[in-house]
Amino acid sequence: AKVGDLLRSGTPRFSFEMFPPRSEKDEGILWRTLRNLEQLGPDFVSVTYGQGGKTRDKTIETTDRIISDTTLLTMAHLTAVGHTVAELRNLIGHFANVGVRSILALRGDPPGDPRGEWVKHPGGIEYARELVELIKESGDFSVGVAAFPEGHPRDVDWETGVRHFVDKCRAGADFAITQIFFAVEDYLRLRDAVAAAGCDVPIVPGIMPITNIKQIERFAVLTGMAFPEDLAERLRAVEDDRDAIRDIGVETATVMGDRLLAEGAPGLHFTTLNHSRSTRRVWRNLRG
Ligand code: FAD
Repeated sequence: AKVGDLLRSGTPRFSFEMFPPRSEKDEGILWRTLRNLEQLGPDFVSVTYGQGGKTRDKTIETTDRIISDTTLLTMAHLTAVGHTVAELRNLIGHFANVGVRSILALRGDPPGDPRGEWVKHPGGIEYARELVELIKESGDFSVGVAAFPEGHPRDVDWETGVRHFVDKCRAGADFAITQIFFAVEDYLRLRDAVAAAGCDVPIVPGIMPITNIKQIERFAVLTGMAFPEDLAERLRAVEDDRDAIRDIGVETATVMGDRLLAEGAPGLHFTTLNHSRSTRRVWRNLRG
């Protein structure tokens, strides 16, 4: 099965995002999480491509092992950072070889501070759109792209960002997954603007049950994501109580997920950070 086809089937699809482990201990945690999540029968899982292309080998190793050792349908993330076109072609060829049929095509952020200057590799590519084209001409893949309900920090303005998004879909992407966000209205505004531009690519909301205040604040700074003040206040009020924070995270993600599905979202893509406890609770709440 291919992710783009699943998302057009009319049934909401649920997926989980993992990152490549950085140590043996993290590897154990990831595999426990995968085994727990496999029981739920998700539609697919994805493995991120390390920031700045750093965990390249680990991404590939993890993707390969999920394919060989589990029953999970696997989507690979691929970024253009620091790669020549020839290297990208090799990576795409490897994914084809191990049976990956769906790839999320991303430009990626510069190594170090993701807000730093983007410098194109001399033999590489400039925008995600070109990676979409490269993957499409390399085989029969379903290709996804990133979407940003609040706009991307590098957009000239929100409307121009939407135009660039539609361009990369027209280049051959057949689904999209959003950055995590907390205002459902932002997602609906993006979806409607994309539809108004004549683009019918399914846009899956990215969703993350908050488990840690510092982590989400850091993420908001790095990505420019707005973090609603009322939610921040609720979390700060219980900041020393990890269970209470988790409960708020699960509740917030459940309310959002419910509303997004009621609004016709094609599915939900959970950022798990390689832990399954909160994700499983949200899953139970939504699918009961
Ligand atoms: P692009 O679509 O290329 O857009 C980048 C910027 O360029 C935007 O501001 C856009 O408006 C602008 N632009 C596009 N085309 C043009 C043009 N023709 N002229 C002028 N400006 C243009 N990062 C990782 O490193 N690894 C991952 O695994 C990863 N997974 C992700 C998963 C999801 C669901 C999301 C939402 C993001 C993920 N990212 C990941 C982060 C992503 O790589 C960064 O957010 C990156 O800055 C943007 O990538 P993009 O593919 O959207 O870029």
